[in-house]
Amino acid sequence: MYTPTSAVKSNALGWRTFGNTRRRVAAIGQGTWNIEQSAADSAIAALRRGLDLGLTHIDTAEMYGSGASESLIAKAIAGRRDEVFLVSKVLPGNASKRGTLAACEQSLARLGTDRLDCYLLHWRGAHSLQETIAAFDALTRAGKILSWGVSNFDVPDLDEVAAIAGPGHPACNQVLYHLQERAIEHAVLPWCRAHGAAVVAYTPFGQSTTAFDARTKQGRVLAEIAKGHEATARQVALRFLLRHPEMFVIPKASDVGHVVENAATNALELSDAELARIDAAFPRGKPRRGLPMI
Ligand code: NAP
Repeated sequence: MYTPTSAVKSNALGWRTFGNTRRRVAAIGQGTWNIEQSAADSAIAALRRGLDLGLTHIDTAEMYGSGASESLIAKAIAGRRDEVFLVSKVLPGNASKRGTLAACEQSLARLGTDRLDCYLLHWRGAHSLQETIAAFDALTRAGKILSWGVSNFDVPDLDEVAAIAGPGHPACNQVLYHLQERAIEHAVLPWCRAHGAAVVAYTPFGQSTTAFDARTKQGRVLAEIAKGHEATARQVALRFLLRHPEMFVIPKASDVGHVVENAATNALELSDAELARIDAAFPRGKPRRGLPMI
């Protein structure tokens, strides 16, 4: 059973070592699923404001808007590529060796860059992991990706990756993790900690807004804690997820005000008592079969 370590103090926020890569990466990044559905100018402005505020870990995927998210990011990071820790993902259906090599080239072209900082298998599909990993190795040798990881992988899948690729892999596992979905804490997070892999929390605000509604019991807990810090409930939520030292969060925000709010989480420090209160209000629940994903 995984037990969180004592609170990670705020001076540990901001930048963290990204798994086995030895790279220092912004703990709070920017997701981009559906970002292409917003007006392009404001979405690009939001991403660039995020970079200004240190949200330099940008997450995308060939799946998002069938490449439109990557094309929009290209405009946001133009002239600023070196500031960014850029992550994209190959779809499982493309994850044969040849398919992964081709998908990566297409992502690089859409993103207007010559390299990805990390390339992920979006979720496990029918292609063998040997093939996908062989492609990741070839892309690494060619300097087209600087590291690789996985997404939505449960422990048996992670064990397979480690058996094929050896120590130091995967660099990360990107998984569903928010206050109302803490399943990864039972086994996936401990596996990643034991193997030095980063954990990247996707959909960190959850699939409903009840946690942030001060009329609900859970929402009241967040609101009260937030008030004591002149913070917001969403900042408290992100800060709670980041109490694990290997954790990164990638909230998606196309609204610049949301970006500013999310970035300010870096300055928020919660006491052990406050973390324990959130823990009690949003219980982890019992271990279940299978890894939740959306
Ligand atoms: P999310 O980041 O938890 O939530 C996004 C929603 O929250 C948007 O509607 C956004 O609104 C809003 N929001 C952001 N900051 C806010 C704030 N401070 N106050 C109020 N609302 C705020 O959900 P997500 O997009 O599903 O997940 C984040 C990222 O994880 C994705 O974008 C994607 O990059 C990644 N992801 C990966 C997988 C996977 O299978 N690997 C699956 C899902 C997601 P605005 O846009 O209007 O600002």
